[in-house]
Amino acid sequence: MNEMILLKLGEMVLKGLNRRSFEDKLQANLHRRLHPYGQFRVYTRQSTTYVEPMDEECDVYGAFEAIKKVFGIVGVSLARPCEKDKDAILNTAKEFLDDKLRAARTFKVETKRADKTFPMNSIQLSQYVGGELHEAYENLEVDVHNPELTVHVEVRDYAAYVHADAEPGAGGLPVGINGRAVSLLSGGIDSPVSSYMIAKRGVALDMVHFFSYPYTSQEAKDKVIELARLLTAYCGRLTLHIVPFTAIQEELRRSCPEELFTVVMRRFMMRISQEVAKRCGAKALVTGECLGQVASQTMEAMACTGAVVELPILRPCIGMDKEEIVQISRKIGTYETSILPYEDCCTVFTPRHPRLRPTIGEMQYAEEKLDIEKLVAEAVAGIERVQL
Ligand code: ATP
Ligand code: MG
Repeated sequence: MNEMILLKLGEMVLKGLNRRSFEDKLQANLHRRLHPYGQFRVYTRQSTTYVEPMDEECDVYGAFEAIKKVFGIVGVSLARPCEKDKDAILNTAKEFLDDKLRAARTFKVETKRADKTFPMNSIQLSQYVGGELHEAYENLEVDVHNPELTVHVEVRDYAAYVHADAEPGAGGLPVGINGRAVSLLSGGIDSPVSSYMIAKRGVALDMVHFFSYPYTSQEAKDKVIELARLLTAYCGRLTLHIVPFTAIQEELRRSCPEELFTVVMRRFMMRISQEVAKRCGAKALVTGECLGQVASQTMEAMACTGAVVELPILRPCIGMDKEEIVQISRKIGTYETSILPYEDCCTVFTPRHPRLRPTIGEMQYAEEKLDIEKLVAEAVAGIERVQL
């Protein structure tokens, strides 16, 4: 018999969010994420969700690792099944949790009995298994209030299960429960982190990347595709919209005062992202901006970039130090890819002395001679879509 996975669901239990829709969304997300690992039955009983392999082919360990990245789950444990017999349960605990039983100083056994025909009640079974383990492991003392290790026993319909305390899950809310946003993904460290943080709040994402071939290389583009692919472990499947940006940048270099170039360029990024958002039903834009990190991330510069769109701009990294952002990027596994040394379109034609406190009036003046609608429409028409 294969092991199975028990999940503890996240905060919707406490909040006003509709519990039913939370569970339905999570189930659908789990099914998609589990697909590569075989066929699983997923069902919820008394605030625990059970992920049960349907045959011996299933890769339960692969599924276990994948589930740790699914938002909406706070705890994950792997449970080993055995015959519904007190000694089979005891032996399974000794075998399956041997490492943990040796390492702990204090423990207790906690039993849940769904099958009421089992000859012992929960307390009797806990006492039996606990007593035998206490005898078998010299290092162990019983502590029912604050044990280092809890041995969980579940007597269910077809089998009994043994597992230890849950490992932490990804937390957050199931992706999709809070609508959709468009995330601006550069090749840097910050924007994969900001995408992760917004997805964690239950938001499905489309990604937009601005690409300035030949000023930026095919490798730079592949790097961004790889970052988006890494993020699917958390965000689920997504579309990366790759926008040809060269024509706009060349036009701006011709017509726009050098010190305003970056902010004007970012206004075009916002306009185009909003067009993408309209087409995919997204209700917000997400960036990796961080207050004061670079010249285009002062409050004045952000006011100028935000002024050209109606959608809210979510900036989850806004108050974080670089080190904090790096820590998250390491945790989610995007850091090593982010630091690959390929240029981004933002580093093409960078002004020597960017204006730190630009005004909307200056923007309008700088854009006066541009056919904004046409430039945006042409860029949108040239979008290449990559499904991940
Ligand atoms: P990152 O580490 O995410 O690249 P950064 O500190 O380098 O951020 P900028 O280059 O000024 O900052 O970009 C700020 C934000 O604008 C990025 O976090 C990203 O959301 C967006 N952005 C920048 N360049 C691009 C691009 N080529 N395509 C899509 N979005 C971009
Ligand atoms: Mg960047």
